[in-house]
Amino acid sequence: MLMREKTRARGMSLFQEEFVATSAAVRVRFGAGARRAVGDEMEALGVRRALVLTTAQQAATADEFAAMLGERSAGTFTGAVMHTPVAVSEEATEVARRLGADCVVAVGGGSTTGLGKAIALRTDLPQIVVPTTYAGSEATPILGQTEGGRKTTITSPKVQPEVILYDAELVRTLPVPMTVTSALNAMAHAAEGLYARNRSPMSTLMAIEGLRAFRDALPRVVAEPAGLKARGETLYGAWLCGTVLGQVGMALHHKLCHTLGGSFDLPHAETHAIVLPHAIAYNEHAVPDLLAPIAEIFGAASAGGALHHFAMSMKAPLALRDLGLREADLDRAADLATENPYWNPRPVERDALRRLLQAAWAGEPPAA
Ligand code: NAD
Repeated sequence: MLMREKTRARGMSLFQEEFVATSAAVRVRFGAGARRAVGDEMEALGVRRALVLTTAQQAATADEFAAMLGERSAGTFTGAVMHTPVAVSEEATEVARRLGADCVVAVGGGSTTGLGKAIALRTDLPQIVVPTTYAGSEATPILGQTEGGRKTTITSPKVQPEVILYDAELVRTLPVPMTVTSALNAMAHAAEGLYARNRSPMSTLMAIEGLRAFRDALPRVVAEPAGLKARGETLYGAWLCGTVLGQVGMALHHKLCHTLGGSFDLPHAETHAIVLPHAIAYNEHAVPDLLAPIAEIFGAASAGGALHHFAMSMKAPLALRDLGLREADLDRAADLATENPYWNPRPVERDALRRLLQAAWAGEPPAA
């Protein structure tokens, strides 16, 4: 009760005595059917020939865009894959050059957005992104890419997309299990944004509103996956959470997911969904006040517990062992995650992290 009252008192103002805030110049067009404005957006950018990017699974959507663009389509490249392999990026860049493209239109999840960013890094072509998941990459200047089994991350204004079209009609086809894990992936950006060292009142506002949007809309999307209004609200949440990711630094949660994805080949969104309540519960010991908004949004006693219950009620995967991680790998995962010291609100202690991983592996509730 005391904690709740404190939160409410804090909630009246997000004022910070000092902060530095940086926002990118990104144009966002939001609304069901927004994809149909892609030609207008190209005109506003002063470009005439777009290379449309998707994954092989979304090739039909690429064809729809090419047809919609008519002469403004330079062609399609449907080879986007997870983790943005450098070889694929170079092939797609070559295709863009050969076809005389002067912009890319990336339609898809984080993998397709990543490919558009990789092309922009090499060519400076402007990007129009049409997200079909909630991963949030469209709102960041960050590119993760892989070469020779190693994942590296680049942060540069060169890869920040210029235009985002959020169209709820396109996200309706996202299967419910992916909808849930992708939403929790987005919520992880907001949750870690609440304690980021370089947070600002603006990033905190966006994080709280993004989490609230998912709390309200995700259960409605799960109940009626084709409902446009609730899908739109989840995309609104994705925009806010992705913008937080683009503005402030991440900590333990993202580091753990990066390690598990990179070294054990675990799937991106599912890993985020499982680790999130544990990482937040771990940090809640150090910064309970900064995480109190999460407990308040969900009407729960703790932020870690709130996220665990929400994930459970959305039938999200709860155990890393169900993703194929072996119990014998947990020691190495704990070693890797503690290897390079990085900032986290609570010191990253190897034994405590090993216990966190054990609970996440077994699908147990996060330690209180
Ligand atoms: P994804 O883009 O890999 O998509 C997963 C699968 O779902 C693909 O086969 C895709 O074609 C399909 N899909 C996507 N939207 C669909 C829809 N509406 N209907 C039907 N199928 C659909 O998955 P993701 O989780 O969006 O992205 C993960 C990748 O994004 C990772 O590589 C991650 O590192 C990266 N990422 C980067 C950032 C950043 O800021 N750089 C942020 C978040 C994620």
